[in-house]
Amino acid sequence: MALGTAWAVDWTRRAAALVEEHKQELTHLDRDIGDGDHGENLDRGFRAVVAKLDASAADATPGDVLKLVATTLISTVGGAAGPLYGTAFLKGSTAIKGLDELDGAAIVAFLTAARDGIVLRGKAEPGDKTMIDAWTPAVDAAAAAGDDPVAALRAAADAAAAGAVATEPLVARKGRASYLGERSAGHRDPGAQSTAYILEAAAAAAEA
Ligand code: ADP
Ligand code: MG
Ligand code: MG
Repeated sequence: MALGTAWAVDWTRRAAALVEEHKQELTHLDRDIGDGDHGENLDRGFRAVVAKLDASAADATPGDVLKLVATTLISTVGGAAGPLYGTAFLKGSTAIKGLDELDGAAIVAFLTAARDGIVLRGKAEPGDKTMIDAWTPAVDAAAAAGDDPVAALRAAADAAAAGAVATEPLVARKGRASYLGERSAGHRDPGAQSTAYILEAAAAAAEA
């Protein structure tokens, strides 16, 4: 089974719904170790994406849909997360450009390019207590899952969720939370948690 444009659209809608549902939680996480705007920022961005989905072309590929996500997040989210998620979706969509259907290898290519884009832009390493600590285990789990794109996305989502929990004891070395130094330990990174929700939405859309 391969995933097409309907999956990309459904992923986007489910991501918007999950972000909206967890907006307060994400904002509270960011209040603990940041400036308390992560939930609001992402919710604004995904609302804007959903508003544009209906106007997208009938012959759009999955890459076209995910590129629309990228450009809209870049122009509406702001802060650190806007450019980082925007770059992730932009690099990811380029990696699957022109494909009508995504197999497991294409899903892994998307996730890898997305993660690499975030690293290129934000220079975070694993263990720095950022969204990379959710994306990197997600990429590794998807690559290990085999040819099935649905299994790859489920493995990625579960690994991202575990990766977000595992940021709790870490001391932040990038982003606003790094200003707190040792005091950032004991809190979950908001961007790692939002990554877990976004990838959960991708898996749920694939399983639907
Ligand atoms: P801001 O800090 O500008 O208010 P957000 O609150 O929207 O931005 O996003 C904060 C999240 O961005 C953090 O929880 C972290 O996951 C992520 N982040 C910040 N800086 C970096 C970076 N250099 N590399 C990767 N992720 C980062
Ligand atoms: Mg913030
Ligand atoms: Mg901010």
